Amino acid sequence: MPELTDLHVPSRPDWNCKAPGCGKPWPCDIEKAELLRTFRESRLVLRMYLAAHMQDAIDDAVRHPLDVDIDFWPRFLGWVPPASPAAGC
Ligand SMILES: [Zn+2]
Repeated sequence: MPELTDLHVPSRPDWNCKAPGCGKPWPCDIEKAELLRTFRESRLVLRMYLAAHMQDAIDDAVRHPLDVDIDFWPRFLGWVPPASPAAGC
């Protein structure tokens, strides 16, 4: 049985969360918390992961224009808190 957080994945091409009862712009708050936990060792890797998703979202927006504009940078990367100096990245 999948963990509840496994359900918080993006639908495409609208990039809203697929989890039942969520449907918020991806990454939703639950997914953000999970991503920070998963990538707690490296914010750099987290940013690379999110940048890849942002690129996919941009590609989708070009191929399937939606009525809603996505503010890509704040949504995909701008929410990631800076790493502590001790973490190194
Ligand atoms: Zn969600």
